[in-house]
Amino acid sequence: MSLNLYEIPVKQVQGVRGKKPEELLALGISTVGDLLDYYPFRYEDYTVRDLAEVKDGDRITVQGTIVGMPQLQMYGRIKSRLTCKIIVNSLFVTAVWFNRHFMKDQLQAGTEVVLTGKWDQKRLHLTVAESEFPGNANTQTGTLQPVYSIAGPITQKWMRKTTKQALTQYGDLIEEVLPQMLVDRYGLIGRKEAIALLHLPSSLREGQQARQRMVYEELFLFQLKMQAYRALNHDRADGVAHPLDLPVVRAFVRALPFVLTESQKNVLAEILHDLQQPFCMSRLLQGDVGAGKTVVAATALFAVVKAGYQGALMVPTEILAEQHKRSLDKLFEPYGIEVGILTGSVPERKRRDLLGSLQLGLIDIIVGTHALIQEGVNFRNLGLVVTDEQHRFGVNQRSILRRKGMNPDVLTMTATPIPRTLAITAFGDMDVSTLRELPKGRKPIKTYSVTHEMLERVLGFIRREVSEGRQTYVICPLIEESEKLDVQNAIDVHAQLQFAFPDYKVGLLHGRMAASEKDEIMRAFSANQLHVLVSTTVIEVGVDVPNATLMVVYDAHRFGLSQLHQLRGRVGRGEHQSYCVLIADPKNEIGKQRMKAMTDTNDGFEIARRDLELRGPGDFFGTKQSGLPDFKLADMVADFETMEQARDDAAELVRTADFWTAASYGKLHEFLRREHIFESELLD
Ligand code: ADP
Ligand code: MG
Repeated sequence: MSLNLYEIPVKQVQGVRGKKPEELLALGISTVGDLLDYYPFRYEDYTVRDLAEVKDGDRITVQGTIVGMPQLQMYGRIKSRLTCKIIVNSLFVTAVWFNRHFMKDQLQAGTEVVLTGKWDQKRLHLTVAESEFPGNANTQTGTLQPVYSIAGPITQKWMRKTTKQALTQYGDLIEEVLPQMLVDRYGLIGRKEAIALLHLPSSLREGQQARQRMVYEELFLFQLKMQAYRALNHDRADGVAHPLDLPVVRAFVRALPFVLTESQKNVLAEILHDLQQPFCMSRLLQGDVGAGKTVVAATALFAVVKAGYQGALMVPTEILAEQHKRSLDKLFEPYGIEVGILTGSVPERKRRDLLGSLQLGLIDIIVGTHALIQEGVNFRNLGLVVTDEQHRFGVNQRSILRRKGMNPDVLTMTATPIPRTLAITAFGDMDVSTLRELPKGRKPIKTYSVTHEMLERVLGFIRREVSEGRQTYVICPLIEESEKLDVQNAIDVHAQLQFAFPDYKVGLLHGRMAASEKDEIMRAFSANQLHVLVSTTVIEVGVDVPNATLMVVYDAHRFGLSQLHQLRGRVGRGEHQSYCVLIADPKNEIGKQRMKAMTDTNDGFEIARRDLELRGPGDFFGTKQSGLPDFKLADMVADFETMEQARDDAAELVRTADFWTAASYGKLHEFLRREHIFESELLD
């Protein structure tokens, strides 16, 4: 029998007492398995160095002998500066401690010390961060120590000790999950060893090897999930084969107020082809902001309705739902297609009527937030689900529908452009369609990068646009990971702008506001009741206010390029020339290059390409918004080859005759079950 580490509460680890379980929970750690999975993001090197080999400014560890007397200066009661001469590799070095006056008595001539700190080559000074006296037990001298991403009262030291303890107590329960064949193929180190080495490597090379092994595992399991899902879902011929009336669809397209772009036509052809197959479509439609995804989706919905089925359009927010409802109504009105809307603010009675009509098939298309698919919502015959922005259609949602006896085609739209090869690999469970071009005649958004000193001129720019009847968005600085600070920033900027524009209505939008409050502000801005809208990044992706022509972003260098591009996409949606002003003081060359990418081009794919080139995916894909998978260790771009390898391996494995039945794959089955990939009809 094997004990599952994810079922052992973390308080079973010696030393996890008192408030510690709670504090660990704040890091997402509740079981021993979680703790062992909580990998360090780097190591601190306490290897003793030779001063001949170090550089100015390095963080180094040296060993030496105290010579001379320590000198202490106190500044008030707490602040102090303690210095002492030590001899290291036959050089006289001055060690400096700040605010550690209590160290003084330990610094006796002739004593051996190991000091870690920042090296000042010119003055031969070492600003000490950590001191050790060899001979003490528990020394970290000469080791690599893991550095964890921690918060709150938990310290690095405690995490190190506790993780080590967990490995001692439970390390033997770590079991291999990868098929032996793959372990052999790549000469991977075993899982148990890899996890131990990730936490406690004795050299960076060892840590690297351990990482490589776990990265492969992470990507392999991710790809296995995709490939298994694919094998169980769209490779099965039990979806709806829509009997499309293509001439009617063509007539609909011809009657649109514009001519579709070549890209739109191609993508639509792919979708219409899929709809007619008995397989379940699962397709990602990606296209830059403004590329015209909505009309593609609308045409697909139209085709499905004309074939006798119902459609659903899922969006992340009520505002977007209302916006889409309006545009679909406009498009479908001449065809007698009934569009309903279901959101949290629909009153109960109306909601019940609506659900009744939906079940009877009196409503052809329903627009709403993602609760659409759940909670007692029944369709007569749902044939196509379209999801807009951010929300990928999850495996769970698919299962819920299956249980209701429905197996609709699914189209997922995203405005985050991703290089195609990356998309195909990252979304192994979906086919990918890409809108490459924007409709003709779009005026590119003029983008400027300015420094903070030019704020006065930026305010003048806002004044000019508003005096011409236009509206402005002002997006406030993003402060790393702290929503609270973001909000404070927005409040400050809002106050400043109110002061600068006493005659204008300046609105404020941030993440700490209730959803209804946010909706109200957005509605007021849409209705041109606000001249300027100050917002944190909560501003909705996909919101369409054609009268807004100026996007000002404060501290633009703090944002990822993808996010800047998305923000810029909020303007340039109407007939007027639009502008984007990035206020930035980039600190380094990369920062400058990023601003340059924004001012050089309006093409989201080009921006994505440059960003990947500049710095890897971290910042580009860092935001949850991208909808890309979030990995613990793996990096979408740096580990791309491993990802492709893992995809091929996973695809090969699910096609193996005995994969679904052989007991030797038990661990993998367990994993797939935990991830809700298996439906009950299989395996049980
Ligand atoms: P997105 O891809 O960002 O969702 P939308 O679907 O909102 O873009 O389209 C942006 C605007 O472009 C809409 O006003 C839409 O009516 C218009 N549009 C879409 N396709 C075309 C086209 N082929 N020619 C001209 N305008 C188009
Ligand atoms: Mg859209």
